[in-house]
Amino acid sequence: MTARILVVDDIEANVKLLEAKLSAEYFDVLTATDGPTALALAAAEKPDIILLDVMMPGMDGFEVCRRLKDDPLTRHIPVVLVTALDGRADRIAGLEAGADEFITKPIDDLIMFSRVRNLTRLKLVIDELRDREASGRRIGVIAGAAARLAGVGGRVLIVDDNERQAQRIHTELSVEHRPLVEPDPEKAHLTARGPVDLVIVNLMARNFDGLRFAANLRSDEATRQAPILAIYDPDERARAVKALDLGVNDLLAKPIDPLELAARVRTQIKRKRYTDFLRNNLDNSLELAVTDQLTGLHNRRYMTGQLDALTQRAVRGGAPVAALLIDIDHFKKINDGFGHDVGDEVLCEFGLRLASNVRAIDLPCRYGGEEFVILMPDTALADAERIADRIRRNVGGSPFRVAAGSELLTVTISIGVAATLGEGDTPEALLKRADQALYEAKASGRNRVISHAA
Ligand code: GH3
Ligand code: MG
Ligand code: MG
Repeated sequence: MTARILVVDDIEANVKLLEAKLSAEYFDVLTATDGPTALALAAAEKPDIILLDVMMPGMDGFEVCRRLKDDPLTRHIPVVLVTALDGRADRIAGLEAGADEFITKPIDDLIMFSRVRNLTRLKLVIDELRDREASGRRIGVIAGAAARLAGVGGRVLIVDDNERQAQRIHTELSVEHRPLVEPDPEKAHLTARGPVDLVIVNLMARNFDGLRFAANLRSDEATRQAPILAIYDPDERARAVKALDLGVNDLLAKPIDPLELAARVRTQIKRKRYTDFLRNNLDNSLELAVTDQLTGLHNRRYMTGQLDALTQRAVRGGAPVAALLIDIDHFKKINDGFGHDVGDEVLCEFGLRLASNVRAIDLPCRYGGEEFVILMPDTALADAERIADRIRRNVGGSPFRVAAGSELLTVTISIGVAATLGEGDTPEALLKRADQALYEAKASGRNRVISHAA
């Protein structure tokens, strides 16, 4: 697993040393020796991880970090702050500035590589989600942006059999979260399957192996995504490294500093909500927002977005857009006579016929129930009317084979056609004209096409 890492330190020798160590582990390394250069490189090169020194003249690491996290272009890049050994205040300020991790100077290579590998894994997940979200956005599906989601009010599961310590953590976190303590690892695992924003596990628990617990969470589909914060004893560094390798998201050393605890918990919860947000958008968008589940055609919401864009272009002097509003005649009789499932089959078959009877740039959509819309870019009213009549004949001309082939149904449709009128026209007005035409088609006997002349 390789990654591009931007190393930022005002001291040239430090940069060189880190560059050498990271390159030896096959990471791609970019370097900068001041804040403004780092910001420019981050925006231009989109590194996977940024290792950022805190102490720099001019713009310090906190400021660089804040700016990275304020910029939508760089917000998602994990930042590891490099702080002085005893920099408690630094660490808290760093987390407040939005840093994802920090390591102390002098840098412990093992810890650094584990953290970098760990963040690389996380970055891969975030990138994939962002990619898919971006493609969803391009087709106009996802509204709204990922606001900086708050890191408070989280449900935090504390897995610790050290009663006093667990209670202290509980008390600290109660100020802004909803913590609960569970000393039994099996029960805790079950709880973690419910909605949990963060799991805190004590690696020095007496009655269970915290590492095993973390590994179990990671190998269970239902808990794989839960962020884990592990409490460790600085004397048992190997366990801490092991924990990071197992996929624990963050570490907290004993004795527990309440401010650091609060800051780390907030950071983890923020990050969890950000990935949840991306993931949910994905589910809603690509699956549900674009297609109608029954027919596989575009759905109404998608159609509306496309119609807006096409109409805008048309009224600004672009090519006209035509809309066909199609309604199946006496569809209720099909449902009543053959059952709802057969009705669904007819809708599916109808969707197929629509899709195979229009050009690739036309957009056949299920508008709702047994109503369909076809948007036709670059199409004038007279042409749209001709196409509509061809579709009408195709549907009515050959019966639908349904109910596993046992029934042949003749289905007819009525179509209202309208096209954009130029300046002042709107999508709503266009659909309204198509609807009026459809109404006339129904009223004058069905199985016909009527177009709404201006
Ligand atoms: P008209 O010729 O005037 O259009 O008559 P109609 O019977 O087609 O129209 P009406 O609007 O009275 O009835 C449409 C029916 O379509 C009613 C509704 O139950 C049914 N319907 C809507 N959505 C679905 C669906 O997803 N599946 C099935 N099977 N039926 C549906
Ligand atoms: Mg209807
Ligand atoms: Mg109907």
